Amino acid sequence: MSKAFIYDLTPLELTEALNALEQPGFRTKQLLQGLYNKLYQDFDAFDAIPKSLREALDNQFNITPLKLHSTVYSKNKDTEKVLFETHDGHLIETVLMRFERRNTLCISTQVGCPMACVFCATGQQGFARNLSMSEILGQFIHFQRELRQKNEALRNVVFMGMGEPFLNYENVSNSLYALSDPERLGVGARHITVSTVGVIPRIAQFAKDHPQVNLAISLHAPDDALRTKLLPANKQFPLDNLMKACRDYVKETNRKITFEYALIDQLNDTTEHAHAFAKQLKGILSIVNLITLNPSKDYPYPGSSSMRVQNFRNVLVSHGVRVTVRLRRGIEINAGCGQLAGSIKSNDII
Ligand code: SAH
Repeated sequence: MSKAFIYDLTPLELTEALNALEQPGFRTKQLLQGLYNKLYQDFDAFDAIPKSLREALDNQFNITPLKLHSTVYSKNKDTEKVLFETHDGHLIETVLMRFERRNTLCISTQVGCPMACVFCATGQQGFARNLSMSEILGQFIHFQRELRQKNEALRNVVFMGMGEPFLNYENVSNSLYALSDPERLGVGARHITVSTVGVIPRIAQFAKDHPQVNLAISLHAPDDALRTKLLPANKQFPLDNLMKACRDYVKETNRKITFEYALIDQLNDTTEHAHAFAKQLKGILSIVNLITLNPSKDYPYPGSSSMRVQNFRNVLVSHGVRVTVRLRRGIEINAGCGQLAGSIKSNDII
């Protein structure tokens, strides 16, 4: 039988595993420290733990959830994309963006994505399976180790890589607990953002489970007809219902929501679209994040010109909407929003 991945276990499950090995209670803390603070790469390194236990753990658990496949850097080195190989041979991608005063990691949650958004390279690729908690955390741990060697640290995480986080809720949720727990990975909850296409039932649950983690909604169109064309999931989760879920979210958490909107030349970036979008946002504590559409293999339309982006922004601002324009980076290494494709073993696409 293949070994279980130790980062798939919650602290409670680790305690149970240690109980089964007849270990005293304080071992859980020692094990958590080695796994989440020291980021040891093998059980041999856990020097606070007796050798016999290290061997027992090694027999029972695998500590390496992902294999490093390759690393690509953007020309100016401010963006680093890593391909990881999963135990069953898929390739997933993770992107580190280095800014002057912070590093942000963009994490994947699925192998491929079933949402099929037409302009997204991941959506065009199809779907194989959810990533486990160990595979989600493994992406973070790889980069945290690497940055520590340079006396730096990861303090910002966005769940905006491959996949739809709210279709893999349990593993994403447990990963959020591990990331934000000061005893484990110690990233402040307010420095973590989860982006969803709008899986409505999960929005309320997320508000209850993770009220301090930021929520981003991929909107991209202000009416159902256009949104369904771009994001087929809109058929199942239409705009009126989605915006109601957003209002409820704000009521419950008192937190603002980020609305992402990728601007596509002439298609969703007219003045009328901007007015309609501002109307949708009425009464919702929010900020809009505009992105110029990035090129992806199977989508022929170009992103909007900077003039059209400015115009769209100005219309929103005239309605009192807060707007930021996302800097594009890593485009030449296909590390931009919607460009992550990795590779699914072809016979595993479902
Ligand atoms: N499935 C989640 C998270 C992944 S994508 C979601 O839909 O939110 C992260 C963001 O990149 C989303 O807003 C997505 O719509 C956007 N995106 C996808 N393809 C893009 C492209 N070609 N150019 C710009 N943004 C894109």
